[in-house]
Formats: sequence, C-alpha cells, structure tokens
Amino acid sequence: MVVTGATGTAAERESRYYMRTFRRQPLVLTRGQGCWVWDEQGKRYLDLVAGIAVNVLGHCHPAVTEAITRQAATLVHTSNLYYSLPQLDLAELLVEHSCADVVFFTNSGAESNEAAIKLARKYGKLHRDGAYEIITALNSFHGRTLATVAATGQPKYQAPFAPMPEGFTHVPLNDIAALRAATTERTVAVLLEPIQGESGVHPCDPDYLRAVRLWCDEQGLLLILDEVQTGMARTGTFFAYEAYGVRPDIITLAKGLCGGLPGGAVLATERAAAFTPGDHGSTLGGNPLACAAGVATVRTVLDEGLGAHAAEMGAYLSAGLTRLRDAGAPITAIRERGLMVGVDLATESAAAVVDAARDRGALFNATGPATLRMVPPLILSHDEADYALEILATVLGE
Ligand SMILES: *Cc1c(COP(=O)(O)O)cnc(C)c1O
Repeated sequence: MVVTGATGTAAERESRYYMRTFRRQPLVLTRGQGCWVWDEQGKRYLDLVAGIAVNVLGHCHPAVTEAITRQAATLVHTSNLYYSLPQLDLAELLVEHSCADVVFFTNSGAESNEAAIKLARKYGKLHRDGAYEIITALNSFHGRTLATVAATGQPKYQAPFAPMPEGFTHVPLNDIAALRAATTERTVAVLLEPIQGESGVHPCDPDYLRAVRLWCDEQGLLLILDEVQTGMARTGTFFAYEAYGVRPDIITLAKGLCGGLPGGAVLATERAAAFTPGDHGSTLGGNPLACAAGVATVRTVLDEGLGAHAAEMGAYLSAGLTRLRDAGAPITAIRERGLMVGVDLATESAAAVVDAARDRGALFNATGPATLRMVPPLILSHDEADYALEILATVLGE
C-alpha cells in the first residue's frame, strides 16, 4: 500500500483509521518544552495533565533527551535473553530507594499490576494453601487488561467484557471492618492505590493503611500498593507509602518511570518475589532505551529533590484553590497530596471547565462530571501555578 500523504483533519483521519476508544480533546499537540505544550497553530498551553502523570520532568528535559538520544544511537533493544546494563542500573536505583529487594520491568501500569497479581497467586500456592483471591477497593483503577479490569473496583469498566476473570473482591476504601469481613481462607493479598487517582484523588487514611498492613501481617496476606500514579515523587516522597510509614510487600510503578517512554516495574520483597525462571517474562519490558530514559528520570527526580518541590507546589496550588473557593468560586472540595490535586465542583461542569481553560491556554483533566484533576510536571514553578490559578479563577467565574 502506498501512503500518499495526510489528507483531512486529525479528527477525520482518526475516525477513518483509529479504533473508537478515546474521547479526545480537539487539540493536536506538536511540541513540548518544560511545563508547556504547543498546538499546530503555535498556540501554547500550560500542561497540568502531563501525559496523565507521566512527564514528571516536563517535556524534553535535557537529561532525558540526552539519555534517549545517546541510547538510541547505541543499542535500542536486545530482549531479556541477554544482560542489559541500563536495565540493571534502573533496577539498582529502584531497589536502593525502596523497601523492595528485587524488580521486574514491564511496559505499562496494567502489565505491572498483572505481574503483581501473578506474584500473589504464586505466593498463595507456596505459602497459603492455594489462596488466590485479591481484595481491592471500590472506585479503584488498576488498568485495562482483563485481570486488571477485574481488579478495578468500577463496574462500568467491567460490564462490556463480562465474564470477568475470577479472584477479586471489592470493598469500600478506608473501612477496615469491611476489609476484615471480606477476608477468607481464599484471600492472598490486598491491592490498593495509596491515593486513588482516576477516581479524582482520594487518599487512604493513614490509620487505615496502617491497619491494613497489620491485618495483612496477622493473616499472612501480601500488601500490594499500586503506585503507578503516586510513585516517582509526585506526592512529596519518592513512593507515597513512605509518608504513611507503611512498607508494602509489592509495589507497582509505570506512568512517569521512563520519562515518557513506555515502561513499568513491579518491585517486591525477597519473600513476595515468588517467581522462578519460566513463570513470567516480557519481550520489550526493561529494554535498554526505556531503562536509559528511566535512569535519567529517576536520578534527576532524586538529585533535584523534586519530591520536596512537589509537596511545596501542591500546598501552593491548594492554598490558591482555597482562596478561589473562599472568594466564591463554585468549588466544594480540594484534595491535594503534592502534585496530585483533585477539585470537586458544585455542578457537573468539569468538562466545560476543561474546554474553557484549554481555550485560555491551560490543560486540565476531568476525572468525573464534577471533578477536575491536576497532575502537572514536578518541575512546575510558582509563576506557572499562578497562571493555572488565574485561568481557573476566570473560567470558574464565568
Ligand atoms: C494509569 C494507572 C494504571 C494503568 O496504567 P497503564 O500504563 O495505562 O496500563 C494502573 N494503576 C493506576 C493507579 C493508574 O493510575
């Protein structure tokens, strides 16, 4: 087939060639730098979405660009049949900065959670008489593969694809009694996001997460924390669990891990790392290009203290949003953990606010009819935060 060149708008070409999966904003982004992106007409937007919590260092950060170009000119892919130095460098960095002992690399958050689910089931075979059930939270989000959709506590993602793989039970978040009541001899693990992201930034209460840890210890269950969105210093510490004083047995990562290249990881303690050769694998997972970008990203986040900066900027945004609310803006709730910020609006106007803010030059994301989310690059400056708050003030005032 001869490709003769693009005809039609991006929307027309998408409807011709792409599966009907995404409700996209009417925006073709062609360039990014720092916290800003530009469209085809050269109009710029402050990016408070950051590829959905992916671009932790913003767009085209020199450390990431340099690592990618250097590795792309050296060795892009080898498979896991051979050793790879960038993969070992990233593994070492993550293990040295976490409570885990070993790591496995994937290409996405869903795949990281799939690996965690398989680890838990293998652990159940070895240590819990074949127990396989995993308790997760209502309104959680763990990915779009069949098993991770089954793990996700939202019926709307499951209904079109029923029957679901079995082995998942859902309980309300922050209700330890419900978790205890849901535990049976079939239970092997509890899987939680420390702060639910897709549901609109809903944190675990510190007392709850500590009680879950104790319950897992008493019952011999694994605690799996899905840090796909909360990891990479977004919430103020490199992993969100650090601020809770809770040590999980298994942690999953993705989104920002490889600086915008596809990449994820499952980290586990020695005891939870139940795989033996042949149990699991990935052709592209942990490939040299993604891992070189990951090393540059993780090192920069750690060296530049971006966790502390994220905490400071989250507090700054939250204070600004509180001032807007106090001045009469239709805001009913503000939930902030570093640069993970959820804002509930008084009416189901989130989509309209996103559209109006985009027209004025800032990208926000609606996680529900009345909920806005901000997950900007961790390098966000005070001036950029002020710009975002000004646009919100204008749009919410209209
Ligand atoms: C985004 C997300 C996932 C899924 O990640 P993908 O890379 O889209 O598969 C899983 N868990 C959480 C908490 C997420 O935010």
